[in-house]
Parts: sequence; C-alpha cells; structure tokens
Amino acid sequence: MAKKYVYSFGGGKADGKAEMKNLLGGKGANLAEMAGHKDLRLPVPPGFTITTDVCTYYYGHKKKYPQELKGQVLAALKKVEKLTGKNFGDPSNPLLVSVRSGARKSMPGMMETVLNVGLTSETLSGLAKKTQNERFAYDAYRRLLTMYADVVMEKAAGIEPAEGQGVRKQLEKILDEVKKSRGAKNDSDLSAQDLKTVCSRYKDKIKQVLGKEFPDNAMDQLWGGIGAVFSSWNGKRAVAYRNIENIPHQWGTAVNVQAMAFGNTGDNSATGVAFTRNPATGENNFYGEYLVNAQGEDVVAGTRTPAPINKVSQSTYNAHLPTLEKIHPKLYKQLEDIRLRLERHYHDMQDIEFTIEDGTLYMLQCRIGKRNGPAAVRMAVEMVKEKMVAKEEAVGRVTPSQLDELLHPIIDPQKEKIAEKLGSGLPAGPGGASGQIVFTADDAVEWKKNGKQVILVREETNPEDVEGMRAAEAILTARGGMTSHAALVARGWGKCCIVGCGEIEIDADSKSMIVGGETLKEGDWITLNGTKGSFYKGQLPMIDAAEENIMLNAFLGFCDKIRTLKIRTNADTPEDAAKARSYGAEGIGLFRMEHMFYGKNSEEPLFLLRKMIMSKEESERRRALDELFPYVKKDIKGTLEAMDGLPVTVRLLDPPLHEFVPHNKEALQNLADSLGIDMETLEKRASLLRESNPMMGHRGVRLGVTYQEITEMSIRAILEAAVECLKEGKKVAPEIMVPVVGTAAELKDQKEIAKRIYQEVCEKYKVKKIPHMYGTMIEIPRAALTADQIAGSAEFFSFGTNDLTQMSFGFSRDDIGGFLPDYLKKGILPADPFVTVDVQGVGELIDVGIKRGRSARPNLKVGICGEHGGDPDSIAFCQKVGMNYVSCSPFRVPIARLAAAQAALAQSCKPKAKSKKTAKKAVRRKRR
Ligand code: PEP
Ligand code: MG
Repeated sequence: MAKKYVYSFGGGKADGKAEMKNLLGGKGANLAEMAGHKDLRLPVPPGFTITTDVCTYYYGHKKKYPQELKGQVLAALKKVEKLTGKNFGDPSNPLLVSVRSGARKSMPGMMETVLNVGLTSETLSGLAKKTQNERFAYDAYRRLLTMYADVVMEKAAGIEPAEGQGVRKQLEKILDEVKKSRGAKNDSDLSAQDLKTVCSRYKDKIKQVLGKEFPDNAMDQLWGGIGAVFSSWNGKRAVAYRNIENIPHQWGTAVNVQAMAFGNTGDNSATGVAFTRNPATGENNFYGEYLVNAQGEDVVAGTRTPAPINKVSQSTYNAHLPTLEKIHPKLYKQLEDIRLRLERHYHDMQDIEFTIEDGTLYMLQCRIGKRNGPAAVRMAVEMVKEKMVAKEEAVGRVTPSQLDELLHPIIDPQKEKIAEKLGSGLPAGPGGASGQIVFTADDAVEWKKNGKQVILVREETNPEDVEGMRAAEAILTARGGMTSHAALVARGWGKCCIVGCGEIEIDADSKSMIVGGETLKEGDWITLNGTKGSFYKGQLPMIDAAEENIMLNAFLGFCDKIRTLKIRTNADTPEDAAKARSYGAEGIGLFRMEHMFYGKNSEEPLFLLRKMIMSKEESERRRALDELFPYVKKDIKGTLEAMDGLPVTVRLLDPPLHEFVPHNKEALQNLADSLGIDMETLEKRASLLRESNPMMGHRGVRLGVTYQEITEMSIRAILEAAVECLKEGKKVAPEIMVPVVGTAAELKDQKEIAKRIYQEVCEKYKVKKIPHMYGTMIEIPRAALTADQIAGSAEFFSFGTNDLTQMSFGFSRDDIGGFLPDYLKKGILPADPFVTVDVQGVGELIDVGIKRGRSARPNLKVGICGEHGGDPDSIAFCQKVGMNYVSCSPFRVPIARLAAAQAALAQSCKPKAKSKKTAKKAVRRKRR
C-alpha cells in the first residue's frame, strides 16, 4: 500500500488525532482531534494535513515531493469540496483554502501562512456573485495578493530585498495611499470600488517588483502555497528560533490546507484569539480578543485595536469597545461551551483561534497555551483542586524558571522590551533592580544611608566589599564567573547580580565607566536583569510577581509529596537560617564558619580572627582563639536554635588566611598594638602568609593539620553550642564537616582531635552523649577517587562542587568569566560548569565517590553543597546518583523543591494524568 502522506479532517471525522503531533505537527494533530474526536466534534472547517514526512522527503530529494503526494492531495481536496459543497477553482461556486504551517513544537510566527488560496480573476467574480458581497471578495483578493507575493513569490523564491523594499511593504504603501485618498481610517472603511483599485494596482506592482505575474490559476496557487510553507521551515527566522529553542532541524513542518472560514464578510463576521484561562494571572476566566469584519492576520498586525470577548478581558486600552458577549450572546455562549469542553478534554489551558462567518462559529486552532510564572503556578494548583490533573502532572507543568519569576521583583517585561540595552554578563543573581551607579563599597554604604538606591559596579568584589554589596540593590562586576565572590554572596542573599561583564571599562579615578559606547558616571541610573544577565540605561519599573504566595505554597506542597531528595540550605547566620526555613529548607547543608567574619557585627570577631592569624607562637594563637571562641559559639548556637532540631552542617574554617589580613594602615596598626608588636614585625608576618596560589594553599583541613588549636576551638564551639541548646530543652542535630580533604589520613588526624574535644565537652557539661555526626566535604578529585578510604572516618559526604569543578577542569572559579563566553560560543563547553554539573567529568567523580564511599559505609549520608545544589539540571543528576539531599542558598530552596520533585518524576517513568500511585512510591520501590 502506498504510504499515507495526507490526513483528512472534517464533517465529524478525522484520519489523525492529538497524539500524532510528530507526523501531523501540533496544529494538524489538534485540528484532527477537534474535528474528529467523539467528545469534541467541534465546528472545524474541513481540510487536510500534509505530513512532516513530506517535509523531510522534500529536503532530502532536492525539493521534490514523493510521487504519491499529488494524488493524495487531490483526493483530500475532493473530500473538502464534498463537505463544503464548493469546488476549488470553480468560477460559479469557488472553494477557497488556507495553507498553514504546523511543526511538532509551536514556533510562533516563524513560518508562513497563505489565506484565500484559490481566488483568480474568474473565481473572484463568482465569489462576489455567490456571496452577493463584492466588497468582501475584493478584500479577500487583496489579502491573497499581499500574502502570496510576499510568502510564495518573494521569500520562498529566495529573494532578499533591502530593508523596507520587500513587496509586502510596497503593497501596504499602496493600501495606505488609497485609504488616505478616501479619508478611510481602517481597512474596513474601504468600499468595493476602492478595493478593486487596490487589487489592480497590487497586480501591477507585483509584476514590477518581482518581474512575474501573480498566478491566475487556483491549482498553481495551492502548490505554490504548499511549497512556500515547506521552504519557510528553513527560512532564516525559523532556523534561528530552532537553534535557540533546541528544536531539531530534521523534524520538518506539516502543511495544513483547510477550507476558509471568512471573518471579513461584514459586521456579522469576526475573528479572534482566546485563552481558556488568563495566561498572565492564571485566573479561571475565559480571556480573549476579537475583531469584527477581519481576518486572523489583522489581530496580529495590530492595525486595529481588538475588542475584549467579555468583561474580564477588558483593559484600559480596549474598555471602550463592545464585548463579543454583548453583541453576539449566543455565539459567545457556544464559544464558552467549547472552552470548557476543550479544557476538560486536554486537561490544560488552551490557546484557541476562532472565526465567525455570517453568524456561524468556526474553530481554527487549539494548542496548549503559553503562560507566565504566576499563571503557571496558579493553574497547576487550581487544576489539581478541580480534579482535572493529578499532582504529578501539575508539578511537571511549571518550569523552574517560571517559579523563579515568583520569587523576585522583575523588570516590567513591556518596558524591558523597549529599553536601551547597555551590555550583558553572566546572570549570577536573579530578578531585576535599578539604582544609581557607585564604584566603591564605601560609597554604596554612604549613599544608602542617605536614602539612595544604588548599584555597586566593581571590577570584581572581595570580602571587604560585603557591606557595600549588602547596601546595594544589585551588583555588577566586570570580571568573575558564576562562583566568584560576587556571585556567591549575591545568590546567597537572593540579590540581583551580573558578573563577568567584559564590555565594561571602569575608570576608578574619575568614577565612571564606558559600556556599549556610552560613558556613565557615578550617580547615573541603570537597571539590571539578573535573571538574563542584561542591563539597561535608566530606571525601569519593577513588578512584584510574588503576590500569589498561597498558590506558591500549595504548589510547593505538591512538590514535597513527590520528591525524595531532601532540600537543605547554605546559610551562615541565624537570620538566613530562619529565612531558609520559611522557604521550606529541611536543614543546613553548609554553614561556612568564616562568613561570621564578614558584614554586620563582624568587627570584633574579625579583629580577633586577624589577631589569631597574625600570631606567631601557639600560646599567642590560643589566647586569640580563646577570645574568639564565645563569638563563634554564639553564632552556631543561634543557628542551631533557628533550625530547631533539623541537621546543621558546620564547616570548619576554610579560606586562605591571607584573605583576612587587613589592607588599611589603621587596621594594621591596631592589630600590631593588640599583639604588642611593631608594624615592621606585623608586616613581615603578613608577607609570610602570602601565597602564590592561595586557592590551593594553606586552607581547609590543612590549617587544622598545622594548627590543631584552630580545629579544637571550632569543634568545641559546635559541641558546646549543641549541649547548651540540649540543656535548654531544645533539639539539635549538628554535623561537623572538614573541608578540602584529599586523603583519608588528613580526616583521621582531625577526627582524633574531634574525639578528644568531644570527651572534654561531655565532661565539662556532665553529659554522656551529644548527638552529632562527623564527615567531610568531597571537593578534591583525589578525595572522590579514594572515597572508600575516606568513608572510614566520615559518616557523611558533602560534595563541594565549586572546588571539585575548579580542580577537575583546572579552571579558576574566579577567573573563568574572562574566557567562558568563547568556550560557550564555540560549543567547547555546553554550559558553564560552575552552574550545571559537568556530568561527564565532575559527575563521574561524584558517582565514583558515592559508590566507593558507600562500598565502605553503606549508610553513608551524601549531599551536595556547591552552587550546583540549586541548579535544576544538577539536581536531576544528584537524584540519579542517589544523593540524600541537596543544599543551596535560601532563595533557591523553592526552586530546588520543584526541581527535586521533577527529578523524582523523571526517574520513576512518565506520570499519567490522574494516576493514583504517586511517583514517590514508585521511586521508593526503585531504590529498594
Ligand atoms: C565548594 O567548594 O563547593 C564549597 C561549597 O565550598 P566553597 O565554595 O566555600 O569553597
Ligand atoms: Mg570549597
């Protein structure tokens, strides 16, 4: 049997159905479903779909069609003729058709459409006579002339006119001239005679511009239209769109040929688009617009203001226009009924196109409607409540980036579209922010004190900038990658931040910068979109997308029921811990002890830390540590209390010591005085601390190996804080974590200290037991490879994927911003490895590390605390390799809850709508 290339629909029947999107494209499959499914059988004008296979064939055979196609198209056309009672090319009773594209995945506006195909000089008068409406016939004809000349005769023929010289533009100019000469405001104000003039001038113009006559034969027009749609699959716009959206080029488009329904026959006709729920808010309201006496292209073209279909669709710009509900109550009711049936059938919000021809309603399209973040969340929650979908299905419908929209103020998208873009960098902290530029942290603090709103612009940031970073609305740096200091700190606070914007040239002396050919001075306003990494001139308005908190919480509740990964947070203060808990964190996966020495109230402990660092003798150091101890204990205790019995992983001191050596003279002098040494001696000590490669220097466990008193103080602070909480009747679950471990011996060495301190604390407080765990970070490749040995002294592993990535690739996490764009542009790296785990390399180390670790200790608890812990793709990887939890900054906790649920669903085979068994159960079964 010959291969089937053409699928018919209409008259309550269809060859295809919704599931056949790959073959029929989204539009074709849904037309078939609407026309033929027994629960729908909607008023769809009859037609047929030429499959995507033909498109693939066409490109594989030098733009030729399969032999069987012609016969199948003619047979399908015959069916349409029968159903409509009209004949294609018949001068007395002509059938006109539309020819439209339709790929598997919607590519809005990227491919071509031709309407009114089949109008020739002969059928034109036939149509005018038959409809007794000459004006309408000529209106349809001038539209065909424009579309056909543009799409088939120019674009599909590969003609690339200069800007503004395309045939469509030139024809539109004629229309404008005629309108002007007749004093007509809208196209619909032109008479039949006017349109006749327009059509005749159009034909001359087409010949003049394209050197060819417009084809006066219905069949030639049909095949011309089909060919043009296929060739638009490889048009520039479509190819670029597929590259951005990752749509495979080999998929091809289908072509839909369908009897025309005319919305332009007069005031009893109209065309419109609608959403079965509001796509901007998610409200369960029918929402849409329509235009009287118009064809679909007019709604998109924006030449006339469309009217609202009902009261809830009214806005300030269209409130003066009559609603469809008012002028056509019966038709509106029919449309409303279709709306409900479609939602019930598809279990999702639909985006529909309809046409009213002389008081009869026709459905031209339906598809899953696009929606913004707040709308996606609201619809997901409400559709579960309405029992339209199961929780699993609902959770799969919201993307992490849609959820992110709810968590930060964002730039008003309408205003952003028309804003003047200055430059772009890496999107390190989400949301939008605007402010006046300042170039130093001190200025940021000062300006903020004076009630100003500032953006801190720096070459790159360091720990001394933290107060200024806190004071700023957002941070913009010229250098640095996604785990650079600025990115890490900003993300931790949920603050808008763009890093690594190489286009900025900062002149610190004149307090100005050059970017995008503009010079901006201190005090000038800029606006950042930290989600995209773009920034703009001036102050753009923000909108708060997080109004739907009830919905958000209900939605995250669904996620929690499905996910199997626990979600912890990286938090260093009791305030951050409390915030993270309010977002749903189930523990702290990383409490960086050294963060206690930055920011608010850090002066005193920082001074004592510096004193400890600059000490030479052990006794001197111990004295400084004794003074520091109460501060450390207090902070840990506050955090344990805030977490109320949830696990808190406290990491022992990690960063290179020299980072804490003060730079300014006064601070150095104070330190020298306090240690009872002169400046010269102090400077000598400071220079001894300097390292050529501090990231691989004397940090982490190495500090504890050299100065065991530092480890002693840290562990004592953790255990005493815990025991004091217990004595006050509070629950605690501290976990002591040793960073930068590369060998089992290092960890063992520190464990001996931990054991000794544990005994001492038990004795001091007269308790038998202090619940705690002892474990390590895995952030050095060697540690991952020798994980079985390391697990001998570790009850848990936490993968520090920032350092693990840095050391696996040998890319500096602070400098990658300088060359990463080249790597991404050339496709050498598929993504920033500091954002998304590099599954092949770093991921392999993680997988090996977990397997080897658990081979030695089967109940080893495993988590991740690098920045990847908040990245949805990386979370999916963590699920796959069997981690117990992920830990991320407080503001990313909700996204991690969603990503973990989606990862669990993906692992437990595809969810079904309304499936009773939860994916969680399925995942558990799998694990066992
Ligand atoms: C890591 O290396 O992944 C980590 C969490 O530690 P830090 O970023 O503090 O080096
Ligand atoms: Mg690290």
